[in-house]
Amino acid sequence: AVSVQNVGMVFGEVHAVDNASFDLPKGRFLTILGPSGSGKTTLLRMIAGFERPTTGEIVINGQRVSAVPAHRRSIGMVFQKLALFPHMTAAENVAFPLKMRRHDARTIPDKVERYLNLVRLGGYGDRRINELSGGQQQRVAIARALVFEPDLLLLDEPLAALDRKLREEMQLEFRRIQKELGVTTINVTHDQREALVVSDEIIVMNGGRIQQKARPVEAYRAPSNAFVAHFIGVTN
Ligand code: ATP
Repeated sequence: AVSVQNVGMVFGEVHAVDNASFDLPKGRFLTILGPSGSGKTTLLRMIAGFERPTTGEIVINGQRVSAVPAHRRSIGMVFQKLALFPHMTAAENVAFPLKMRRHDARTIPDKVERYLNLVRLGGYGDRRINELSGGQQQRVAIARALVFEPDLLLLDEPLAALDRKLREEMQLEFRRIQKELGVTTINVTHDQREALVVSDEIIVMNGGRIQQKARPVEAYRAPSNAFVAHFIGVTN
């Protein structure tokens, strides 16, 4: 479970995130939705522990993020820039976090195979990243983010660079995998359709503030204000 308590981030004059609070129970898929500059990435970066909030605190499974050293945080991440190792194979990329975390070397090949199968890349383990398609690379990144069984998965517009058809396919894939593993997930996007399709809950942000937190159908039927109504109603 994730608890965000009165969290703020100020950059000079800019309140990138202003007094944000919400709770996310274990196993849920939350999407933070909002226009460019609304503070989504800043909020996610604080949850990841990359930045310390100016005010408030973030608690994951009962522990303050700032109290856990980076290498002990149980958080998997997939960002738009995938940061895969292009010269290494798919299997070597997926094995990387296990080696970093000093898993027993004898158990690594099985785990890697299991997660490559999960993302439907069974048989592709020996391919180098630069020999894979964009969608396949995305799948490797998902396997790498999940192979060490993190408590929390963070997604920051990982699909933004893909064409529409592939993006829609991968949205459903993220959802399928998330349900299969039951991993608590926070996804950031400015794509309202994606948010409505894949999420258990959405948070709509604007100007650093949370405008509404609701189930997609609730936000759609009963937007809390004109901004939410407009933003959710607009189609890309
Ligand atoms: P996008 O969808 O374009 O990625 P976003 O909703 O993720 O936008 P943020 O990147 O969180 O928005 O930015 C929120 C606000 O904080 C913006 O006004 C941005 O210019 C500002 N900001 C973000 N990071 C910094 C920084 N390191 N220094 C100064 N200002 C920043």
